Parts: sequence; C-alpha cells; structure tokens
Amino acid sequence: MPQVKVYNLGYDPETGIGELLHTTSVRHCFGMIRREVANPVELAIVQDRIIPTALELTRELSGAWVEGAGQRSIGFSYRAVHERDRWTCAYCSRRVSKTPSCEGLLATVDHILPVSRGGPSSWTNLVCACKECNNRKADRTPIEAGMPLLVRAYDPALAQRLLGGVRRFPLLLSR
Ligand SMILES: [Zn+2]
Repeated sequence: MPQVKVYNLGYDPETGIGELLHTTSVRHCFGMIRREVANPVELAIVQDRIIPTALELTRELSGAWVEGAGQRSIGFSYRAVHERDRWTCAYCSRRVSKTPSCEGLLATVDHILPVSRGGPSSWTNLVCACKECNNRKADRTPIEAGMPLLVRAYDPALAQRLLGGVRRFPLLLSR
C-alpha cells in the first residue's frame, strides 16, 4: 500500500502545489477522514480499491515545528512544557532559560487557570512563561490579567494522534 501525502489546508489540486506536512498510512488516513481532520484531494485505484493518495487538512496548521519523539508517547513534565513551547514566554514571546541573563527571563511554568482556582497541572493548562510575566499575572486568568496568550496550550500526544506518525508537532495549532 502506498503512503498517503498529507497537505496543510490550502492545497491546490490543479497545480499540485501545497505544503506537504508528512505522509501517513492508508489505514490512518481513513481515520483522519472519519474524524473530519482531513479531506481526500487525490484518489487512486490500488488492488481494485479506491484509496486516497493525498489529504488536505480541514484546519490550517501554522507556526513553528518542534522535533518530537516519533511514535512514542510524550511524557508530561514541566521541562516538556518548556520544550513544547520552545523556551518562549507564552505572554511576551521572549526567550526564557534556566540560566537567564536577567532574572525576569527565568523559565517558569504558568498555570493558565491558577492552581488556587482549581487549575490542573496538565498539558492544556500549562504554558512556558518568563518569571516577570508569571509574577505579573499572579493568581489571575489571562483575561483578568489583560495578558492574552500568544500560544495555545496543547497536548502533544493528541496532536500526534491527529497527525499520525508525524515526527514534528505544531507549536501553534492556531492563533
Ligand atoms: Zn514573558
């Protein structure tokens, strides 16, 4: 069975021009169609079966890509949150580090919904933040603090399932 090409939203079947994200198995591709994650844009007949040979995502993936762990599940840790967010503050987009040049740029992990309000320590409630932003936000939600999130807190394992055996994950699913 051939591999199926997966294109980002915006693929032009006339010219064949599009952003090729990765290839996946036919079996996985049917799962993506069923979940309405992608639509077939090219078909072929293989062994008397009509199968898609190219898919287009129904939603645009944008932003930087992070090297991931292939088929392995992605373990959750605070460090993994920093890695997912590429050591960039979710509120001010500055680079953070464990050994910063100034204390304000120390890498911290922010609970979007604060712990004091029942916010869990989970992929979708945590973002990488500089110490300065984290202190400023304090025990408030981003809306209360007037500090909109510039990235989306997502579960890399979930992103991996959506994208199949992709080895890179989108840093931002949407802005
Ligand atoms: Zn910041």
